[in-house]
Amino acid sequence: MNDLQCGACGETDDLAGLAAGDAIVITCGACGASWERDPSPRCRSCGGADLQPIPLAIVEKGRGTQLSVVGTRTVHLCSVCDAETLERYHANRPNPLMPSELPTTGRDR
Ligand SMILES: [Zn+2]
Ligand SMILES: [Zn+2]
Repeated sequence: MNDLQCGACGETDDLAGLAAGDAIVITCGACGASWERDPSPRCRSCGGADLQPIPLAIVEKGRGTQLSVVGTRTVHLCSVCDAETLERYHANRPNPLMPSELPTTGRDR
């Protein structure tokens, strides 16, 4: 099954994918439209497909203990295994999720 198709013009061949965090941004060579494609990620812990794309803050440590957000990238969180993290994100919207400087789950990213 190949569901990759431009939503604007219907092109299926002239499409280019570019990795953007955990997601892939597809650009249509025919009309120039671009969109984010869900690469159908699976939870690494439970194998479930019920993942939510969440903007994760890219944090750089300055000197001392100061942290500064330098951008965001899209990550996919499992609504089962990452329920607490998702809750934390939704509670702080529209701010991006802060990475696990705060000890939550032992994710190794
Ligand atoms: Zn197109
Ligand atoms: Zn899971």
